[in-house]
Amino acid sequence: MTIAENIRSIQKAIVETAVKHHRDPNTIQLVAVSKRHPMSAINEAIAADFFLFGENYMQEASEKIKMAPDKSSFHFIGHIQSNKAKTAAELFSMVETVDRYKLAKALNKHLHLLDKQLDILIQVNIGNDPNKSGVTPGMTQGLLKQIKDLTHLRPLGLMTIPPLTKDKEESATHFRNLRLLSIDLAQQGLFANKDKVELSMGMSHDFRVAIREGATIVRIGTAIFGARPATHPNLSSI
Ligand SMILES: *Cc1c(COP(=O)(O)O)cnc(C)c1O
Repeated sequence: MTIAENIRSIQKAIVETAVKHHRDPNTIQLVAVSKRHPMSAINEAIAADFFLFGENYMQEASEKIKMAPDKSSFHFIGHIQSNKAKTAAELFSMVETVDRYKLAKALNKHLHLLDKQLDILIQVNIGNDPNKSGVTPGMTQGLLKQIKDLTHLRPLGLMTIPPLTKDKEESATHFRNLRLLSIDLAQQGLFANKDKVELSMGMSHDFRVAIREGATIVRIGTAIFGARPATHPNLSSI
């Protein structure tokens, strides 16, 4: 299967899953996670009229974004060090992984200098997994309250990576908990858009159950681009 075929088949699966669970397929965005894949993989997707990508590593991402056509856009979905906030503020259409005030403040400072607004999500460690980044569910409200004063950030919702499990219903519980948390926070007016809160949850192996539980953004890598190379691409050679 080609990348173009994989994208069509995932898009079809998203529509079918949404319809099955009485959801509007147009409320679900697909982010193609291109991390560690070469620029040629992104170009193949673009040639098939697909334009939204997710990247995890700042250096790799910035090289790719500089080569990518203007009509493409990129979400940052990896861990960000605060000293990379300037690059993140410049290059991404959304940063999905804001998990601390220091980072939010650094992003806001650079966005102010760029005279720009940035869509962000708060990364929540919904399973309280000691090995995962993200703010704990209990601290999410406090972080969003602090972010309210950062006028260049538009907090649109929550993102999570649940603990790895083969049990789909266990993942479903985490996804449901993220949605319940988002409803509570939306009622407190803590998101930029009260009536449309984004929930970024679900990857190649669990996007169907995530859609069932309310995902509005699914981040899919392997099912589109195949297995990831072990190392970053040498971008200067392509
Ligand atoms: C790598 C990654 C994905 C994609 O995972 P696949 O299993 O390849 O679909 C999604 N989200 C995040 C945060 C990732 O790091």
